[in-house]
Amino acid sequence: MASSRIEWTESTWNPVTGCTKISPGCDHCYAERMAMRLQAMGQPNYVDGFKPSLHPHVLDYPLHWKKPQVIFVNSMSDTFHSSVPDVFIQQIFSVMKEAHWHSFQVLTKRSRRAMTMANELKWSPNIWMGVTIENQDYKSRIDHLREIPAAVRFLSLEPLLGPVPDMNLKGIDWVIVGGESGPGSRPMEKAWVCDIRDQCCEAGVKFFFKQWGGVNKKKAGRLLDGILYDDMPEQQQATG
Ligand code: SF4
Repeated sequence: MASSRIEWTESTWNPVTGCTKISPGCDHCYAERMAMRLQAMGQPNYVDGFKPSLHPHVLDYPLHWKKPQVIFVNSMSDTFHSSVPDVFIQQIFSVMKEAHWHSFQVLTKRSRRAMTMANELKWSPNIWMGVTIENQDYKSRIDHLREIPAAVRFLSLEPLLGPVPDMNLKGIDWVIVGGESGPGSRPMEKAWVCDIRDQCCEAGVKFFFKQWGGVNKKKAGRLLDGILYDDMPEQQQATG
């Protein structure tokens, strides 16, 4: 298990690593930078750098982690990338169902494939399904997510690159917003964040403000109008 410094999760589990870029939110992909670093360090799961790769030997890891955790699945990839075979995704979902004492967060930009495959996957109450939306051009991912029978559906608006007005939040449980961080990070306007917070408030959807981002993200912090927005869904565990 790798503990995570991401504010909205606790651990990561990566049966898939590597990916390819699909939309503007990918431009400064953190996973890519990290994969290249791990490759240089000789980490065996990253011999191919950021090339999509399967790691069947880690599939059963969560079954051995006895302490209940909130686990971000494939933080170094996209579970629904076209190079991940259906059967491998099904295996990931079977492990998540079996490891009912954990909560699993699956986040994708390939929302159409997730929607299309949803009926072939074992959904249990401990599986949270999310889509990333970086600006309003990708709002259709929310419609795909709504079709997926996950117990918790969430949106990650990070890196937020533009306004996302008038979202249909029906059936959505949780929204995370964050600005881009690191070298060359693109700015996020406060008005975009406030609008999204207000949409969540109106729709009764939990809102989590992760960070302003920027080159010095620690300094920029994560307060919005002096308030820490830290809402998260309740952890629901399947009964096994
Ligand atoms: S989908 Fe995610 S992991 Fe894949 S390139 Fe884009 S940001 Fe990186």
